[in-house]
Amino acid sequence: MRAQVFYGPGDLRYEEVAWPKPGPGEIVLKIEAALTCGTDVKVLRRGHPVMIPHVPTVFGHEFAGTVMAAGTGVTTVREGDRVVAANSAPCGECPPCLAGRANLCEHLLFVNGAYGEAIALPRRLVARNVVRLPASVPPHRAAFAEPLACALLGIERARVESGQSVVVFGHGPLGCLLAMLAAGRKARVIIVGKRGWRFERVRSLRIGEYVDAATSRDVVAEIRSLTGGRGADVTVDATGLPEVWEQAVAAAARGGSVVFFGGCAPGTTVRLDTRRMHYEELTLVGAFHHTPELIRRAVEVLESETLNPDALLTHRMELADVPRALELMSRGDALKVLIEP
Ligand SMILES: [Zn+2]
Ligand SMILES: [Zn+2]
Repeated sequence: MRAQVFYGPGDLRYEEVAWPKPGPGEIVLKIEAALTCGTDVKVLRRGHPVMIPHVPTVFGHEFAGTVMAAGTGVTTVREGDRVVAANSAPCGECPPCLAGRANLCEHLLFVNGAYGEAIALPRRLVARNVVRLPASVPPHRAAFAEPLACALLGIERARVESGQSVVVFGHGPLGCLLAMLAAGRKARVIIVGKRGWRFERVRSLRIGEYVDAATSRDVVAEIRSLTGGRGADVTVDATGLPEVWEQAVAAAARGGSVVFFGGCAPGTTVRLDTRRMHYEELTLVGAFHHTPELIRRAVEVLESETLNPDALLTHRMELADVPRALELMSRGDALKVLIEP
């Protein structure tokens, strides 16, 4: 089969590789839809010891497809089933898993290989994180289950409620999904982005109100003035920039919550105003990855169409075009690119 194979930072090769075969407990999926992700761009640039422990490997991690073959002992799905799979599976046995926080599993098993014609899914993933799709959810939409589950975690961590003001810093696909979920909960949503092709596109989706950080003299002051001087009930960073983390804290209201959703570069730190932290009782939470429960909830959200992510697909390309798709992503000229093998 044809696949985009990752050999190391900056080294992606379009190659002919063997069709996968399912071992016991495994399934092989014919990939119908794969989505590019900002993480792909980061990983291609600098590698990722956790997500990609061994190279070469077929690249990409957001996908949906049809079961081509099931190994012995697989009972949850069968040949011909349409499914979506997460890009990882927790062990189910470590302390975080037992505490119901499988996103923090100490032995997360990551799976890569969305940018190929087919993928073999390991036993643990098949057992925990492969979900059968309702007929009404097409593959391109189902492939959003993984990023949507991450966004659901962020919104849950902040306990977003109806009537609250929620500021999302960052207008990438995840910033948009976070904003769409918050809007779905009837919160007032403000998205902070930076002008350019992608921000114009996001503005046209009318998810909420918009602040342009590139032209604003003071983003935090602007958010305060939009919220009657109080600041926002919830702020979410979806940029992964330490200076924006600090803005997210500064823009939160008394008693507000701040969600650190975007991962920053290793070794970076931020400064906190201790007075505000104490006297204003700010709640600061991280949000990382997803759980099997949230993957299922994401599929339910997509099925119910309370959220339709289709507008985030700005391009559609073939497998051979993945490098061009990732190039568009890194330049900010795409939200998500649908890859159809
Ligand atoms: Zn992703
Ligand atoms: Zn675990």
